[in-house]
Amino acid sequence: MLKHFIPKYATADDLAGHQLKRLKWTLSHVYDNSPFYRKGFDALGVKPSDIRTLDDIRKLPLTDADDLRSDYPFPLKSAGFEQIVRVHSSSGTTGKRKILSYTQKDIDDWAYMFCRCYEMAGLTRKDRVQIAVGYGLWTAGAGFQLGCERYGAMAIPVGPGNIDMQCAFLIDLQPTVLCATASMALLLAEEVNRRNIRHNISIKKVICGAERASASTIARIKELFNISEVYDITGLTELYGPGTGLSCHIGLGIHYWADFYILEILDQETLEPVKHGEVGEMVFTTLYKEASPLVRYRSRDLTRLIDEPCPCGCILPRHEKILGRSDDMFILRGVNIYPQQIDTILSDIKGISSEYQIILDRKPDGKDYMTLKVEKAEDAQARDDKALVEDIANRIKHSLMVSCIVEIVQYGSLPRSEKKTKRVFDNREF
Ligand code: ZN
Repeated sequence: MLKHFIPKYATADDLAGHQLKRLKWTLSHVYDNSPFYRKGFDALGVKPSDIRTLDDIRKLPLTDADDLRSDYPFPLKSAGFEQIVRVHSSSGTTGKRKILSYTQKDIDDWAYMFCRCYEMAGLTRKDRVQIAVGYGLWTAGAGFQLGCERYGAMAIPVGPGNIDMQCAFLIDLQPTVLCATASMALLLAEEVNRRNIRHNISIKKVICGAERASASTIARIKELFNISEVYDITGLTELYGPGTGLSCHIGLGIHYWADFYILEILDQETLEPVKHGEVGEMVFTTLYKEASPLVRYRSRDLTRLIDEPCPCGCILPRHEKILGRSDDMFILRGVNIYPQQIDTILSDIKGISSEYQIILDRKPDGKDYMTLKVEKAEDAQARDDKALVEDIANRIKHSLMVSCIVEIVQYGSLPRSEKKTKRVFDNREF
């Protein structure tokens, strides 16, 4: 339970009042200080004073990644340069990078949120935290480290990759917590197993961020490290970075820091709120951010809200783990498919590993085909391959209404990655 990094409101019922008060602050702040936001508000004829209830948020304009790129290099800037102490940037595969600015207060708030993650994950100041995520312009390394130091635990900032050093430190420095992407945690867990050093290390918890980890990957990380606690941390660069939410020990969804931001779940077509409990796009409005505040920022990430209070007793609300990105969706023979759906189906099947690839081809007959390359489990027998192929194909057909070709490959034959593992290969020409 949270003792030090508690919510900034006393009961679940107080949340709306807290959010409305802070929302009004954000709106006056951006209207007074950001030409970008002022222009957007004026175009819709809306003033900060028009927002009197939380539902009024729908009168405000939406923002998205294109706005960040068009407002390059200091998008959404709402503070003077003398106030800005740092920038971070997210990976931009196309076009200009998204650059986000931070005041010292923003950095402090981010550290507070990160401390809340560590407290919720049950860390103490005696914990040693091996941080195996990217440093530099990325938010991950800076966020994990800043929070760790502020919390008072020991940071071991190894960064990603460098498996030999990771393994040496696991033995020599005896870290108790590993922070990594799920792909990197899996890679390291497999390596620990391969080198037979499990009994020489002290990892008790893994905190996975920056990537949507499948249930089977998490199960495999637990099995290989012989631990019961793997936490899923959320966040995106535009919203401080990682550390804005965490799965609790109950493991049913992610608690999110609703005292620091408002999360709307919108239908991607109508841009209206989805019905309670339905899947939609996560749209963020920050409540404290000074340098690059977000007003109704479309993240493209998909999830649903969970209404019931969490059995863990925490009053911070929950959403389902991130179900995918709308950009990841592909269409096969007229059916919209999210890789996460395939992930979920495969997670329930015994005898396979956590690794797979989805390959899309257009064949000479003019039709599109999906091939699933699935790694079998380490201890699987060759004689079971045929049954596995049939089982996987049947479940895909039953759930997604499309046929697929299943190829079973040897354990360890698909590439592992230190960052985000690429799973979809679309070879079709459009
Ligand atoms: Zn909980």
